[in-house]
Amino acid sequence: MRALIVEDDPVLSEQLATAMQDAGFVTDCAADGAQGEYLGATEAYDVAILDLGLPGMPGIEVLTRWRDAGLTVPVLILTARGDWTDKVAGFRAGADDYAVKPFRLDEVVLRCQTLIRRAAGHVRPVIRAGALTLDSQLGVVTRDGLALKLTGFEQRILAYLIHHQNRIVSRTELSDHLYDAGADRDFKSIEVVIGRLRRKVGEGVIETRRGEGYLLRAPA
Ligand code: CA
Repeated sequence: MRALIVEDDPVLSEQLATAMQDAGFVTDCAADGAQGEYLGATEAYDVAILDLGLPGMPGIEVLTRWRDAGLTVPVLILTARGDWTDKVAGFRAGADDYAVKPFRLDEVVLRCQTLIRRAAGHVRPVIRAGALTLDSQLGVVTRDGLALKLTGFEQRILAYLIHHQNRIVSRTELSDHLYDAGADRDFKSIEVVIGRLRRKVGEGVIETRRGEGYLLRAPA
C-alpha cells in the first residue's frame, strides 16, 4: 500500500513517514501544497494524509482540486487544535477523516488502514479470502489459521490482492501501489514474488492472466 504525506513540518512529516513505513506502507512526502497536489493527481495512492495549513497552496485547495479531477483516494486531513471550521471545510471539500494536532502517530496509521479497507468495501479489520485472512491492522496473513511467513514485499503484494480479491489487478496497478515515486519499478521481481506467494498461499489461489494481470480468487 502506498501513502502520500503532505505536511510542511519536516519533523512531523518524517515521523508520519516512519510510522506508516513501520506499518508496511511505502510513502511519498510533499512539503508544500503545490507539490502535494501534483503528486496526488499524477501518482497512484491508497491513502493521502493532508495537512490543511500548507505553504504554496492551502490544503483545502489541494483537496478541492483532487476531487474536482475525480480522484477518489481516501484523504485524512490534519487540522490545528480547536479549529472546527477547518474540519467542516475539509469534509465539505471531500475529506474522509481527520486528526487534530497533536495526534498519536499510531492512531493516524490505524485511521489510514481503516480508510483503505473501507474504500475497498471491507467492513471488518480482518479480511477473508477463501482459506486466507488478512489482519489489515497487524498486517498478518494466515492460511487455514496459521500465520504465513512473508517478506515485506510479499506481504505488500498479498495484502493488495486480498483487498482487491476477485478482480484482475494489472501489473501496472500493482507496481503503482508497491513502489514510491523514486523507486525503479520492476515487473520481473513482481513476477518472481508472485511465484513464491503461489507456493505459500496454495494451488490455484493466485492466477496469472496473460497480458491482463493477477487474480486472487476467493469463493464467497
Ligand atoms: Ca502546516
